[in-house]
This record gives sequence, C-alpha cells and structure tokens, in this order.
Amino acid sequence: MSMQPAPTAITPCPLCGTPLRSTAESCSRCGAVRQFGPTRAESIRGALVGAVAAPAITAILQPSVIVLVCVAIAGLVGGFYVAHARHGADRWLPPSR
Ligand SMILES: [Zn+2]
Repeated sequence: MSMQPAPTAITPCPLCGTPLRSTAESCSRCGAVRQFGPTRAESIRGALVGAVAAPAITAILQPSVIVLVCVAIAGLVGGFYVAHARHGADRWLPPSR
C-alpha cells in the first residue's frame, strides 16, 4: 500500500500553473481563490436581471400592478437560481476579486 498521493491529487493552478493539491482552496503563489458557485455579486446581478426582465416581458400583456409585483418577485427568485445553476461548478478567481 503506497502512501504516495494519486496523480490526480495535484492539479496546476489555472492562473499561474503552480502545482496545488486538488483539495486546495487557494493558490499559495498568486493568491487565486477557488469559488464554489456564484459570487455574491453574480447572485445579486442574476436576481436583479430577473426582477427587471420578468415584469418587463409581462408588461406587454398590460397586467395590473399587483401582477407585475408578483412577477418581479418571481423573477428575482428565478434569476437568483439561474445564477446558481450557471455557476454550479468550481472556479478559480483571481485574488483581486
Ligand atoms: Zn496560482
């Protein structure tokens, strides 16, 4: 039984190429940070896009204000989840973020 880690346990940093453990959450050389899912900004942006776009599309039907508010809330929630779905995998972000 070898104590050597599996070859897949070391992966290069996608930004600077420094070998990192596959479980590393940040790069010791360039400071890049592994990001799970969307960043806070991406979640907010997705929610805002949904909150604006959904009622804008619905307004074509000339609904009541109450309906528009409900659609905006639905768009807010929908956009939030779209942001999560779009950024479901791990990513590496530069340290400036
Ligand atoms: Zn790096």
